[in-house]
Amino acid sequence: MEAYSLAEPAALLRCDMDTDGSYGEVWLLAYEDLLVVIDAKSKMKLDYSYATIEDLHNEDFINTGQMVIKRDGEEFPIAFYSNAVGRTASRFTMVVNKLREKKELTEDDFKQMGDDNVCPTCGKPYRDPRRKICPKCMNRRAIILRLMGYLPKYKLLIAMMGLCMVLTALVGVLRPYVSGKTFYDEVLTEGGKYFGMIVPVVLCLMALEASRLAINIIKERIAAKVSANIVYDIKSQIFSAMQRLSMSFFNSQHTGSLMNRVNNDAEEICFTILWRIPELIINSLTLIGTAYVMIVTNPILSIIVFIPVPFTVYMMKVVFPKFRKFKNASWQKRSKLNSVINDALSGIRVVKAFGKEESEIDRFDKASAELYEASVREGIRGARTFPVMGYITSLGGLFVWAIGGAQVMSGHNGMTYGTLMMFIGYMGMVLGPIDSIVNSVDWITECLNCAHRLFEIIDRKSDVVPSANPVRMADIEGDISLKNVTFSYEPNKPVLRNINLDIRKGEMIGLVGHSGAGKSTITNIITRLYDIEEGELTIDGVNIKDIHPDDLHRRIGMVLQETHLFSGTIMENIAFARPDANYEEIVSAAKLANAHDFIMKLPDGYETELGKRSTNLSGGERQRINIARAILLDPRILILDEATASVDTETELQIQQAIETLTKGRTTIAIAHRLSTLKNADRLVVIEHGEIAEMGTHEELEKLGGIYAGMLGKQKEALKIRGMEDEE
Ligand code: ADP
Repeated sequence: MEAYSLAEPAALLRCDMDTDGSYGEVWLLAYEDLLVVIDAKSKMKLDYSYATIEDLHNEDFINTGQMVIKRDGEEFPIAFYSNAVGRTASRFTMVVNKLREKKELTEDDFKQMGDDNVCPTCGKPYRDPRRKICPKCMNRRAIILRLMGYLPKYKLLIAMMGLCMVLTALVGVLRPYVSGKTFYDEVLTEGGKYFGMIVPVVLCLMALEASRLAINIIKERIAAKVSANIVYDIKSQIFSAMQRLSMSFFNSQHTGSLMNRVNNDAEEICFTILWRIPELIINSLTLIGTAYVMIVTNPILSIIVFIPVPFTVYMMKVVFPKFRKFKNASWQKRSKLNSVINDALSGIRVVKAFGKEESEIDRFDKASAELYEASVREGIRGARTFPVMGYITSLGGLFVWAIGGAQVMSGHNGMTYGTLMMFIGYMGMVLGPIDSIVNSVDWITECLNCAHRLFEIIDRKSDVVPSANPVRMADIEGDISLKNVTFSYEPNKPVLRNINLDIRKGEMIGLVGHSGAGKSTITNIITRLYDIEEGELTIDGVNIKDIHPDDLHRRIGMVLQETHLFSGTIMENIAFARPDANYEEIVSAAKLANAHDFIMKLPDGYETELGKRSTNLSGGERQRINIARAILLDPRILILDEATASVDTETELQIQQAIETLTKGRTTIAIAHRLSTLKNADRLVVIEHGEIAEMGTHEELEKLGGIYAGMLGKQKEALKIRGMEDEE
């Protein structure tokens, strides 16, 4: 018997594809010194002893991935999987690699193990694989209690709403009683209590209607007020939670969809709490009230009134969802047709330029035919479903007429014409509430789902955790040291590997390398947008994780390619990092940044309001405001990431001058695509595939004839072709 069959594997991975790329099931078991691959279909088992594995890594394609092993100098795939398993597969590889290297495994290594896209409780796939929340299995009670937490602040208003709801239900029950029983039996019938008093009773009915209207208006007003407040509470809580989160959170989300999500979810929650739930309460109270009055008055007729109820529930739960499928299908076809039209019209120049009119017409015809078919199917279904439902419901009504009528004629149990009319009035009131009660499960689930999504953001812990005992550093000199630093954005895909770099205070370092080499990532970890996993990063000898975030941010300035100016005045934008700066300081920073002259030419000078996206400023002007911002901050460490990349040649000189002023006396780390801009750097560090490949001055590296010299040669050639020979 093999040794591993007795021991438990350290990790398991279920891959969902066969070697031929079709759906399959292959299991990978990581033991202490052995990786076992079992194909569930063919029952074939392969063992790979760690001693024989030279390398194990994952390769990701667009929708799939594979795990690749290297043995005897040869690489070959051992397992295939879809994107659904991708993340888990990377984790698994990481665990195996740790086992191979005899490193200790931690709980964190297993955090994302397991089948990523199915709920571990019920085994059903997640509706949204990115969120990994199963609406069926989420802890509803906890979410409801937490949602309730938003209400006590408005308890008085909510109590008033409750009173309104009870009154609405009461008036609802009373109305058919007065308009049916009282009106026919007591007003129109001789000997009745109010015989002949038509006007007062009608006035009484009018008053009932008016009071219902008034109560409703009050309720709606309160709901609107409380709702706006709760939406505000939720959103501000989320906004402050989001501001605390690290960059990795924002990288995993589209900012646009995040904003939509927060807005829609907060509004959906409020709509449910303040409109749908009150509606449900009113409907339930009305139903209980009517049922009570009916049963007390005439139990047999009451049963008949409720006969269509199971049928209505069946229609809502079974028939309507099917109909909705047809509706969705035609909705999808309609939006497909719209996008075909939109594509063809907005891209009309391309269509015409390539002579593709005919194929566009074909595309339109096809989409249009699909919509036609889907609409016909929807129409036929609709034409059948709704009238049948209406007919059966009205049949129920006819039964009430028939049996109730017979009872009136026979005087059964004192049944009167007025009572019959009251029942007929109640009949219409029974089916309406049933609708909202039956559907309540769906919208409550949806509301809890929204709440869960928002609480996820609120509860999310930042990956960059501030130290419990941060070191205050009023003055940072600017010595930076990276020792054996390894970093990855995603597990098992290191972007920086074993970086060792000492930057002395006041030194200017130019980071060069091909796109995607990891240059910006180095600046990201120095500004602590991300925390490193391995190695040590210190500033003035203090571990960056221990430095107080305020000191760190106060002492590190950045000028990036993408300049973000906020809405507000130019003055406010320059003072963004130091709101306490006075007018003189701001102006002198702007002067040093070569920005003062153009600012003074603007209509309101420093008080000019910047519009949305600051369209009224050119790229170069925006960049100079950015530089002024950095000068005002007066940082000890300065990061320039492609600071002159999106600037026209005319203003480049001015920006270069401004940057020179800015870098004086500060530790500077500059990234630039145009190598000529880094010639003055004290040292150039060439990054290649996340590693330091070369280091030295411009002259040294040029002489070396390596990567840097190659890049330099290519750039010179490109400039020569464009007739822009670089001035030495
Ligand atoms: P450079 O600045 O040298 O062009 P970067 O440091 O921006 O390169 O990127 C290095 C690698 O890291 C690239 O492969 C890039 O795709 C990847 N990367 C950058 N940012 C992220 C991120 N937020 N999440 C995942 N991968 C990232």
